[in-house]
Amino acid sequence: MAMTGLKLTADGWINIATKYHSPNYNDRPENTTISLLVIHCISLPEGCYDNDNVEYFFLNKLDCSQNSSFQTLQNMRVSSHFYIKRDGEILQFVSINKRAWHAGLSEYKGQTNCNDFSIGIELQGTDKTSFTDEQYQSIASLSKALIYVYPQIKGNVVGHQDIAPNRKTDPGVGFDWRRFMTSVLDPENDN
Ligand SMILES: [Zn+2]
Repeated sequence: MAMTGLKLTADGWINIATKYHSPNYNDRPENTTISLLVIHCISLPEGCYDNDNVEYFFLNKLDCSQNSSFQTLQNMRVSSHFYIKRDGEILQFVSINKRAWHAGLSEYKGQTNCNDFSIGIELQGTDKTSFTDEQYQSIASLSKALIYVYPQIKGNVVGHQDIAPNRKTDPGVGFDWRRFMTSVLDPENDN
């Protein structure tokens, strides 16, 4: 998927993203500088990709009776700014200007409550398996656009596992950080 022309607009939405509006967000604290990018992975059920269950989950519309593994999700109210599917499609659920609910109990460089000052990107996948070429292209293009507007993010890109280490394991062993960081930092790479 070509990502040329990907831009963040003033209202905090990415121009080419497929837009959904999750009710799961609130205001960031006043005078917050967005300074952290958190990468996650998710799939519902785990490892099953040919469905829209994560979209429904972030919209509080997932039918939790359809799969036993969904029981624990029943009353969860979560969201992410972005969700990148296996084919590279970028979905957006919450404006960057708002505080999405992706990190939970978390800490980065002594600062707790990472949702306050971070942007969350979910990749469709599991914390034990690899991601697709299309996902690497999309997350690189998206991250570049975000860093362009929020330069404080540069050097502060982490996995959920890094800010909630005893609780979370995503994006896991299958996420190739070197490949990702190289593609984000390489000025020649303008995909
Ligand atoms: Zn996560």
